[in-house]
Amino acid sequence: MRVEEQNTLVVGFARSGLAAANFLLRRGARVTITDMKTEEELKEWISQLVEPPRLSLGGHNAEDFLGADFIVLSPGVPSNLPELRKASEQGIPIYSEVELAYRFLDGRLIGVTGSNGKTTTTTLIGELFKRAGRDCVVAGNIGSPLIRWVETLRASGSAPTTFVVELSSFQLETIQKFKCDIALLLNVSPDHQDRYDQFDDYIRAKERIFLNQTSQDYAVLNADNPYTLKMSGHCSSSVLLFSRRQELQEGVFVEDGTIQISCQDQKQPLMPVSDIRLKGNHNLENVLAATAAGVLSGLAPEVMIEAFRNFAGVEHRLEPVRELNGVVFYNDSKATNVDSASQALQAFTEPLILLMGGKDKGADFGVLRPLVAERVKLLILLGAAGDGIFEALGKVVPTVFAKDMKQAVELAYKKAVPGDAVLLSPGCASFDMFENFEHRGRAFKQAVCELESEPRP
Ligand code: ADP
Repeated sequence: MRVEEQNTLVVGFARSGLAAANFLLRRGARVTITDMKTEEELKEWISQLVEPPRLSLGGHNAEDFLGADFIVLSPGVPSNLPELRKASEQGIPIYSEVELAYRFLDGRLIGVTGSNGKTTTTTLIGELFKRAGRDCVVAGNIGSPLIRWVETLRASGSAPTTFVVELSSFQLETIQKFKCDIALLLNVSPDHQDRYDQFDDYIRAKERIFLNQTSQDYAVLNADNPYTLKMSGHCSSSVLLFSRRQELQEGVFVEDGTIQISCQDQKQPLMPVSDIRLKGNHNLENVLAATAAGVLSGLAPEVMIEAFRNFAGVEHRLEPVRELNGVVFYNDSKATNVDSASQALQAFTEPLILLMGGKDKGADFGVLRPLVAERVKLLILLGAAGDGIFEALGKVVPTVFAKDMKQAVELAYKKAVPGDAVLLSPGCASFDMFENFEHRGRAFKQAVCELESEPRP
């Protein structure tokens, strides 16, 4: 792929746009950057460019798109932008950042996608490789964008490695040659309805992770999810299933509380589920998926057992924050949809004080009714979605509104008794009150840490 002296347009300028722009600039491309945000709003990113490109900010200009030899699309940008459609009609190639990276990548690729659990599973696979002393880099949402790794490793002349990459459906929409040696599709649930008109389009975008795979490659799929199970019938690669609920002839599954690996007519126990440090059934599924990737990468069972015994999770995902006078606080700020909030609720046996709310994505909170009625003793609502949640859940559990995170945490602690858990699992995006879910999670943790530690009267 020729980059030198090519007119390139980077659409969307944040973490991955910056990495792509720097990659192109270092290779002598003529780079234009476009974004809806203004130069002032983007100044922090602009200051990290290795040299000044052309900037076309505060909106998009059709000529930038039509004058490009190729376009690099950041994951946050909708691929149905009218300017993109026109460029595509003119035959101008549009690459996602991972596609661009793939063209220059030297090594094996393990890709992880799904509605939920991507970051946790990607991190877990990285941990397995690290414990096994195998060379690997973890890229995507966590760590650096793939293109940045490709650049760094090529610059240092490093030997080929294994790339473990978290992939969103947005990134998969524009892949062309991109191919994973091992592709994991964890689950598909109705999320992102604000971006996809049809659930089918969303499923199809996820399925693209298998697009270029051949019989030499592997697909890891969730046998408990109807959508992913269906896909196993039409993958060109060899399929390895995982299941938390059913015994599999070939695959990784749970039987009588033990993880079993059944491969090539041999069944081997790995470890008791109770030895896994991560909380919740959803995380068990992530462990099973990571085990499948480990098996297919030839990692030793002892190494995987050690990793699963020790891995405490990723920040903002059911993260234990503090125990105060018998009350434990958990930060699950990453639960930005109803399904992940539901997973979090199922992970607890303690009585819960639940903090929910944020930006409303049009989700159906009513599906949480039975779980909330059974496990939650007090619901504290925050942000724009509060009214909608109140309508769906207010009748099944005592519910109050808080004006900000600090007030919500103080209220939760006041109402809690020893043995309760206070859980932030918003079930909504964060953009109404916070910059992102990390900001929201940090605000929660700060409010928790500021609670007085003296025993209460
Ligand atoms: P992603 O990267 O796909 O957003 P994360 O690993 O960051 O996923 O987890 C996000 C949230 O989704 C967690 O807080 C948890 O509540 C929920 N979650 C994690 N894994 C799963 C899973 N396998 N199935 C359903 N929900 C999950």
